[in-house]
Amino acid sequence: MTRRSCGALRASDAGSSAELCGWVHRRRDHGGLIFVDLRDRDGLTQIVFDPKNASFAQAEHLRSEDVLRVVGAVRKRPAGTENEKLATGAVELAVEELEILNRSQVPPFQVNVEENPDEQLRLEYRYLDLRRQRMQRNLTVRHRIVKAMRDFFDERDFVEIETPLLIKGTPEGARDYLVPSRLYPGTFYALPQSPQILKQICMISGFGRYMQIARCMRDEDLRADRQPEFTQLDVEMSFVTQDEVLETMESCMRYVWKRVLGIELAPFPRMTFAEVVEKYGTDKPDLRFGLELRSANDVFDGTEFVVFKSVIESGGAIVALRYPDGASLSRREFDALTETAKALGAKGMVWVALGEDGLKSSAQRFVEERHASEIARRVGAERGDALLLFADARDAALAVAGKMRTEIGRRAALRRDDAFAFCWVTEFPYLEIDEETGKPVPAHHPFTEPGPGQWELIESDPRAMRAQHYDMVLNGYELGSGSIRIHKSEMQRRIFDMLGMSKEQVEEQFGFFLRALDYGAPPHGGMALGIDRIAMLACGEENLHEVIAFPKTQTARDLMMGAPSAPSEKQLRELHLRPPPRA
Ligand code: ASP
Repeated sequence: MTRRSCGALRASDAGSSAELCGWVHRRRDHGGLIFVDLRDRDGLTQIVFDPKNASFAQAEHLRSEDVLRVVGAVRKRPAGTENEKLATGAVELAVEELEILNRSQVPPFQVNVEENPDEQLRLEYRYLDLRRQRMQRNLTVRHRIVKAMRDFFDERDFVEIETPLLIKGTPEGARDYLVPSRLYPGTFYALPQSPQILKQICMISGFGRYMQIARCMRDEDLRADRQPEFTQLDVEMSFVTQDEVLETMESCMRYVWKRVLGIELAPFPRMTFAEVVEKYGTDKPDLRFGLELRSANDVFDGTEFVVFKSVIESGGAIVALRYPDGASLSRREFDALTETAKALGAKGMVWVALGEDGLKSSAQRFVEERHASEIARRVGAERGDALLLFADARDAALAVAGKMRTEIGRRAALRRDDAFAFCWVTEFPYLEIDEETGKPVPAHHPFTEPGPGQWELIESDPRAMRAQHYDMVLNGYELGSGSIRIHKSEMQRRIFDMLGMSKEQVEEQFGFFLRALDYGAPPHGGMALGIDRIAMLACGEENLHEVIAFPKTQTARDLMMGAPSAPSEKQLRELHLRPPPRA
């Protein structure tokens, strides 16, 4: 007798005997027979209980999620009752022997449906949620993605090296998770925000080509596409140019998509940061549709419209966006759209409907036919479309127009949900302004090398300095970043100095690393890609929870285990910690 999986039996197995183990997916009583769909990770098989068989009486009491072992005869389903949607749909198993391996309580939600149950319940009863076919499929795809990545890098002679979790902080711009040391009172390990410094040290150690499926932990406020701990495909290479890193990572994604999804990806377009912000208002553009933004400043030269006039005079921007078929919107719908724009940060929005019966606009007195036709030409709009105009300081106008571009792309159903539009963004500014502190911080991390000819700017105009920093973007999501690194300690010190760190701080935090650079560090560069996001997009999902086995909530809690939780007094004492004062 062979044990088969619940997805294995086919018409050609008819006439043989089989043993199946699995969960009761669904039970139906029909004309004296009891039908059960038995489920495991591999699929569903219909098993049939006949009143003539001794197991029938027990089968009458089976409930969803009970765990069974059955033995029986495989037979073809009667003509007309086959289920073409099911891989095993041509056959059924006539049960001769039933063993109930375990009973299940009534589950708090239905396990046998495709739609997601209530989010809180899913996370609390994650073991049941993970039984759902959708989750089993997603986690299996994720496994295949990671396997393909490892194979790709193995074929290219990379070595996977595990780096420790208990380390000294590696800055990636987030807050560290800290672990108190029992042996050294008052000291803490930091959990890695990434293995950045350690992978660079692997280059200094001569490994040349490193990769790791690495866990990273960052204690920051969460958003829908972030988790406090996540997994990266982490890569580092010695003696490489930026082009070689890009080629390697792009080839890896092409390999993964082909092997896991059977999709041939086209070469990824490459754009500079300045270009994407200008065209799409963001550094992570969704290229599943066009709708490029265009400046309309010069179109309104000499305008009397105060909103535009003051923006032009103060060096701001008027940014135009096309709304395909938008002319048919009612005034009320345009008002609602304006509210959406405001919620996304716009000061206001001017709309222009290019209707068959002439032009209508929220700034009717100031937008003339000549203005509209020139803007329409620039954004590629036609009769029947609408134009949306955003006026503000340049960065703000572009950012809002970029968000509205995404919104219009969604509304106009322009993006194909099954399409994968990858791209590269290069030449990022070295510095950006930290939202919380208002201080300049590295746009990537402080180990990034400025671009060719950019070092001189460190004295005169550091804000204008560009970095050898690149991002891979897919469908509006940043999949990951990388850079060519600084490999000389003087330069590394110069960057720390520019960031306002004192000599003592540098020595305390990075002394070991600067010393390592001094022992023949080779030129090197690399990148990391977020595996959770990659898996999410490859599975066609919109939430990271769908591809992470045990995710945390938006407020960083594990609802199944109940973490975080208070340690015992003994644990606290051993760690030289005092319990927090009672509120
Ligand atoms: N360590 C970087 C990150 O986690 C990636 C890299 O520069 O390789 O974003």
